[in-house]
Amino acid sequence: MQNTFTQLENFGHSLHAPAYLIQPKTADEIYSAFKLAKKLGLNVTARGAGRSYNDAALNGGGIVLDMSAMDQFIKWDQATGQVRCEPGVTLEQLWQKVEPHGWWPPVVSGTMKTTLGGCLAANIHGKNNFKMGTIGEHVIEFTAVLPTGAEIICTPKKNADLFFAMIGGYGMLGIFTSITLQMKRIHSGLLTVDAFPVQNLRGQLSSLQDGAPNYDYIVGWLDGLAGGSSLGRGQIHAARYLHEGEDKNLRETMKIANQILPARIFGVFPKSLLYYFMSPFLNNFGTWGINTAKYIASLRKHTFQQPHAAFHFLLDYVPNWELSYGRGGLIQYQSFLPKETAETAWTEMLKLSHKNRLPSYLGVTKRHRPDKFLLTHAVDGFSLAMDFKVTDASRAKLRAMLYDFDKIVLANGGRFYFAKNSETTAETALAFYGKETVAKYKKLKKRCDPNGLLESDLYRRIFG
Ligand SMILES: Cc1cc2nc3c(=O)[nH]c(=O)nc-3n(C[C@H](O)[C@H](O)[C@H](O)COP(=O)(O)OP(=O)(O)OC[C@H]3O[C@@H](n4cnc5c(N)ncnc54)[C@H](O)[C@@H]3O)c2cc1C
Repeated sequence: MQNTFTQLENFGHSLHAPAYLIQPKTADEIYSAFKLAKKLGLNVTARGAGRSYNDAALNGGGIVLDMSAMDQFIKWDQATGQVRCEPGVTLEQLWQKVEPHGWWPPVVSGTMKTTLGGCLAANIHGKNNFKMGTIGEHVIEFTAVLPTGAEIICTPKKNADLFFAMIGGYGMLGIFTSITLQMKRIHSGLLTVDAFPVQNLRGQLSSLQDGAPNYDYIVGWLDGLAGGSSLGRGQIHAARYLHEGEDKNLRETMKIANQILPARIFGVFPKSLLYYFMSPFLNNFGTWGINTAKYIASLRKHTFQQPHAAFHFLLDYVPNWELSYGRGGLIQYQSFLPKETAETAWTEMLKLSHKNRLPSYLGVTKRHRPDKFLLTHAVDGFSLAMDFKVTDASRAKLRAMLYDFDKIVLANGGRFYFAKNSETTAETALAFYGKETVAKYKKLKKRCDPNGLLESDLYRRIFG
């Protein structure tokens, strides 16, 4: 087991925490790390690909288990679409394994760089949450090592309380060591996508609500700088799978080579350098210009076909795009609001961001449904994810604004997603989870981790 003391960051490079990094390759090595932590009086946090926008995979001064070396497929059954793998396997590895056989992961994040362990711990949602739920709803079984050294098997029926608490539990009850997932059958390497503009927030939300039942995926881009009667305007992308027999070029479209995002633009310019050129535009004026041009371009309704990977992993088109936010990095704030109150809450939040001259440079909306995981973030409603640039000058003001956002979300019966928000406090978490849920979670925590070894910066912030 390697062990180094190093500085770790969140995905947005806005938070930093030094930690002892240990890279286990087996369940035994994970347990050894727990024993070491107990001996040294340190806490332990797992880390997948470090793609969380916040402090979920940070553990200042403690031990961080880098799970990326546990990245093997254990079993893949192309007839049933069931896959069993180690938790360090990434979504990129997964889709590339299953897609050529006519399967696709049922739920994916907006980047393919995440690990399955990280995806389960956050219980990620995709652009199909309204239809397919979270990734946890497609887990057949997982195994985990608890800080006590016990190795457990969980299914929706066996150790069900732990199944529904560890998925979405941010790695604070135990460490996943294997995950069995059901893939989704596909009949083409392409999706049919409808793209159309929406003039304001009401149009944005009603398009998500009315459109969702007719599609497999739906997602909105929200122009965070538009105000007045255009507040909340943007563009919807709604996609559906092709039916069996619809794709006449099936062999070609299913090839991985036809899914993969090209490394160069126009075949010449390396995409890895693109973020340098984006940087000068990431200010209020530059983003206003880009968003206005993007909105005007979106006014033409159109339908096109797109490979699955290109549709889902748009953000991976520009590697290291987050670096274009500059030295202070970025914070993402994602709130989940019931469908009845979303418009009121986000109108207030968007207006507040304009008043503070701290607009969101990227806004993304989705349609959601509730689920039965203990620490669920989902609602029967919508989510809005907003990216904010962090600078030395804006940090304190931004933080104060996000506290105000939390109050608005709470007042409107909303929820928070802890793979994203980095300011939400323990008081707010208690208010939206409710005392009963927190007590239930703490009871499980005591059972799985009696010495309190598993702690992250996020855990201390929201359960501190
Ligand atoms: C560009 C981008 C787009 C995104 N899009 C979406 C999206 O569409 N939907 C969505 O839901 N999320 C999205 N996310 C968030 C992301 O999916 C989650 O933060 C996810 O948890 C990251 O996975 P990771 O492997 O990087 O985990 P990390 O960030 O390293 O860790 C996340 C959590 O998982 C825990 N963990 C990691 N491995 C294990 C393990 N083996 N056992 C137990 N706990 C473990 C960590 O302790 C931590 O609490 C996006 C993130 C980015 C950067």
